[in-house]
Amino acid sequence: MISTSTVQVRDLSFVPFIEHSSILARIKELGAEINQKYAGLTPVFVPVLNGAFMFASDLLKEVTVPSEVSFVKVSSYFGATSSGDVKEILGLQSDIKGRHVILVEDIIDTGLTMSKLLETFRQHEPASIAVAALFVKPESLKVEVQIDYIGFNIENKFIVGYGLDYNSQGRNLPDVYQLAD
Ligand code: 5GP
Repeated sequence: MISTSTVQVRDLSFVPFIEHSSILARIKELGAEINQKYAGLTPVFVPVLNGAFMFASDLLKEVTVPSEVSFVKVSSYFGATSSGDVKEILGLQSDIKGRHVILVEDIIDTGLTMSKLLETFRQHEPASIAVAALFVKPESLKVEVQIDYIGFNIENKFIVGYGLDYNSQGRNLPDVYQLAD
């Protein structure tokens, strides 16, 4: 059951937005789509840390095709607004050449992070590259970006929980909460 009460993360109040069970139900559907699309292939899932750790964990449990997982980390976001400045991509494996890569991201806001990730990954000549994002804020996109699997299109409000943080806290919340008005 989703809590009806607000949660406090540091100095901000958040209200319940999407409950854990709804997230899992949607992830099950995404997993089924991926299983169908990648039948006969061995994709490499590349979750983007830190935010995608819970999404990746639940998505991978739905994957039935043989697969691999290789995490990367970028640093670009501070507080409740995007700096849009992707600093570094850590952990990128060079052996993605010729592989079917699926980037797994928690949320696409301006799209700048994903654009930069795609540009960098393409330089390594994967056989194909797809993007799975649990949340997308369509009104917030600043660049056109490839997104193949979308969990939820959401309005342009800051959210926390299920892996997503506010200044490093709130990632552990099983449900997703939205910044209170
Ligand atoms: P973009 O480059 O698309 O603007 O931002 C992508 C990154 O910004 C995400 O991976 C995530 O870390 C962060 N981000 C964007 N919107 C939100 C949000 O509503 N809540 C949280 N916690 N992080 C967000």
